Amino acid sequence: MDQPISSGDTYAGLGIRPMVNACGPSTRLSGGLMRPEVAEAMAAAAQSCVDIAALQAAAGKVIADATGAEAGYVTSGAAAGLMLGAAACMTGLDPARVERLPDTSGMKSECVVARSQRNMYDHAVAQAGLRLVEVGIPDRYSGAGVRDAEPWAYDAAINERTALVLWVAQPGAEPALADVVAAAHARGVPVMVDAAGQLPPSDNLRRFTAAGADLVVFSGGKAIGGPQASGILAGKRDLIMAAALNHLDLDVHYAQWNPPPALFDKARIKGLPASGIGRPAKVGKEQIVGLVAALRLFLAEDPAKRHAGWLKTCRELERTLAGIANTSLSIVDGEVPVVELAVDREATGLSALELVTRLQEGDPSVAAYHGKVREGIVAFRPLCLRPGEAAIVGQAVRKAMGRS
Ligand SMILES: *Cc1c(COP(=O)(O)O)cnc(C)c1O
Repeated sequence: MDQPISSGDTYAGLGIRPMVNACGPSTRLSGGLMRPEVAEAMAAAAQSCVDIAALQAAAGKVIADATGAEAGYVTSGAAAGLMLGAAACMTGLDPARVERLPDTSGMKSECVVARSQRNMYDHAVAQAGLRLVEVGIPDRYSGAGVRDAEPWAYDAAINERTALVLWVAQPGAEPALADVVAAAHARGVPVMVDAAGQLPPSDNLRRFTAAGADLVVFSGGKAIGGPQASGILAGKRDLIMAAALNHLDLDVHYAQWNPPPALFDKARIKGLPASGIGRPAKVGKEQIVGLVAALRLFLAEDPAKRHAGWLKTCRELERTLAGIANTSLSIVDGEVPVVELAVDREATGLSALELVTRLQEGDPSVAAYHGKVREGIVAFRPLCLRPGEAAIVGQAVRKAMGRS
């Protein structure tokens, strides 16, 4: 009892050695680092019980203010937001439909998405029961041509079974969201945007809602620095209400149910469903409070200052990685700057993938970004590096390359 518990004690007690994370806040690597204020808010939240719907309603207000959406909700991650948003579009406020999912009998059950935007997270949309209907030929990626999905293709794919159009945000995504929204809304179909990894820039919190999206999801555990298992769902009030109906524990007598008016309009909900499809993705009070704290800190921080901090870490990495034979080094500046180490495979006998793997297997384990190994590049990102860790990365790379 006298011994304070620190994360070091916690991990060491389990025989787990923390890594040096120069890859970034990926789920596989346990997400990112939380600021002390966020961790403190979560610890404080753990000491009292509250009505979870009321807490969601209060957090939803913060999310609505931050995004410009009508309403907001905290999810257990962006992927859970996709699942809840998809369910909301199918069930509306009908408790019988909430109970029926993932059986979509009697509901619209198709989701239109550009083939070029398919990704491993859209499983979450399918999980709710929707069938993904792909449109467009992504010739600009295959090299066979120059085009990608176009708005007319969405219009052609939308029919009386279409519940949702999914649009995955990234710079250069085609067609433009506003054009997809126009095509979908002309047929009365809502649009959900997966913007999980699109923060920073903080302007993106509002961008997709402003472009007409009905629902937008963001990760809480990526660059905004919230709890790993948290996310944001922002959107139209009725859809957020439906998402909550598919998510919350509603095991109370209807007469007793006194939901927060900001989240639920009780007069429009004729009965309470048993656990909905979202129930296994429940969100704790600690995650809700932590997400709100992180979001507020993210909004309060000067973006230029945040960027300068990351750039400083990149310069430290650059210094410690400089002058390794048969490699070349550059900083690629962007929303989040990154250090790229190009490895001459012929001269070193080591591929970029082998170097990433050696770093991962080293002691301490160093996680490098592995998304550009095909181009012979091992990349290092500053987001999850603590003060002093850049030097450890440098030592680890030299050791892994056989030049300690
Ligand atoms: C990271 C990511 C997700 C999943 O986010 P979680 O918060 O981990 O659930 C979904 N979609 C895209 C495009 C992502 O990059």
